[in-house]
Amino acid sequence: MNNKHMMYAVCTTAALSSSALFFNLEAEAAQPATVNATSLNVRAIPSTSGAIVGKLYKGNTINVLTEQQGWAKIQLNGKDAWISSEYIEKKTSPTNVVSKQATVNASSLNVRSAASTSASIVTILPRNAKVTVIKENGGWSQIKTSDGKTGWVANQYLKVGSGSTTPSSESGGTSVSKQATVNASSLNVRSAASTSASIVTILPRNAKVTVIKENGDWSQIKTSNGKTGWVANKYLKEGSDQPETNNPTEKITITKAANLRTQPSLSASILRVAQVGESFNKVAESNGWVQIQYSSSQTAWVSKGLTSTEAPSTPGEVTNPTSGLEKKLIVIDPGHGGHDPGAVGQDELEKNLALRTAKLVAAQVESAGGTVLFTRSDDTFISLDGRTKISNASEADAFVSIHYNAGSSSATGIETYYYSARDQELAKYIQESMVQHTNMRDRGAQQANFYVLKHNNKRSVLVELGFVSNPSEEDRIATEQYQQQVSRGIAEGISRYFAATK
Ligand SMILES: [Zn+2]
Repeated sequence: MNNKHMMYAVCTTAALSSSALFFNLEAEAAQPATVNATSLNVRAIPSTSGAIVGKLYKGNTINVLTEQQGWAKIQLNGKDAWISSEYIEKKTSPTNVVSKQATVNASSLNVRSAASTSASIVTILPRNAKVTVIKENGGWSQIKTSDGKTGWVANQYLKVGSGSTTPSSESGGTSVSKQATVNASSLNVRSAASTSASIVTILPRNAKVTVIKENGDWSQIKTSNGKTGWVANKYLKEGSDQPETNNPTEKITITKAANLRTQPSLSASILRVAQVGESFNKVAESNGWVQIQYSSSQTAWVSKGLTSTEAPSTPGEVTNPTSGLEKKLIVIDPGHGGHDPGAVGQDELEKNLALRTAKLVAAQVESAGGTVLFTRSDDTFISLDGRTKISNASEADAFVSIHYNAGSSSATGIETYYYSARDQELAKYIQESMVQHTNMRDRGAQQANFYVLKHNNKRSVLVELGFVSNPSEEDRIATEQYQQQVSRGIAEGISRYFAATK
């Protein structure tokens, strides 16, 4: 085996293989069902061309192990076999009618048309959305949303009760109400007063917040768009003074999609991508950079070559949106999960790294105005087919599968894969932004025959974010700093792609 072949061996086995490989790995509970056809062929494989290995008759009871595209897997004489799902009736567990209030306890929650992860998605609820539970069945609850939609969600993502859902109720602390600004280049807002709590959103430097509670070294804050969470006190500066502007009447207009940065430097963090035609008040100018008024409390820098001082070509259409992914739905697919660890490093498992990155990408996408749908948001196994089904059933504008690589102990770098020629541009933009933010070795954007790309109806890419098989690279990719950098790169790549292809 040559080196090149070795490179992707561990991680991509899962992504490349047909979902058939996973049939006997799926540890789902058997569900009893009854045959309702006069006679039903039992086949060796889930296809009408599969060999017939037995017959079942009306009224026979069988246990369905899993279901796959219209076929149900059963056991016949100790061996796996398949029957058409169409001719069986599943016995469902008793449904309890209830009526209670609950809140969503996940960063985004798919509400489905039936109690199954393969059912179509009715709507997506954000964290802390209030719902009424109207029925319970096994691990699922039928809920009604505040705007009257009905659907099914997994119980584990609901928290019963409709009281304050912010951690303040449990965390205690002193209630206050004061203005503050973020005093760090980017600040994680977390669901509880702990660095291990999940990230609710990420704020840029100088963002204005309201401090509503203080508890030790932590403050509970409310962001300008109404999100609540906890931040470390040391990254807040009290007050919300307006920065001084030299000449607020002079305007500049963006002539090419441009990064708005916190400092006049290519290595400064990027607030967002400004689109052609946007205009801003000019504050100052320095060494080829223009300082602009980014929001009422914040300035940003943009490369002067990407701007003009002439009036915008479409006056009256000047916008200053908070970011570049408004109205975009991005499906984020953390690779592997559950019994499938993916690539295994000395300290890290691919499945865990991928989930961490996925949550950070989600925070970035949301802070750029987009909506996120996860294929998994915890450590559970989802088949490759299940992942593409979620994407295909959604209104996704893009699907991003997140992986870490394995190969030799000296292999390095990051790469982005696409399957369809349509998605090559998206892959290129993401790869470019990731390399820019991380300075990792650039392995390029490449075509590959991955299941989650090939069977995806939406724009889709798969990113490989570094080698866990290389001990020094493993150390770096596990750091919070790397995770943040690469996540920002992914979100910015998507945003740049949409800005460029609009
Ligand atoms: Zn993988």
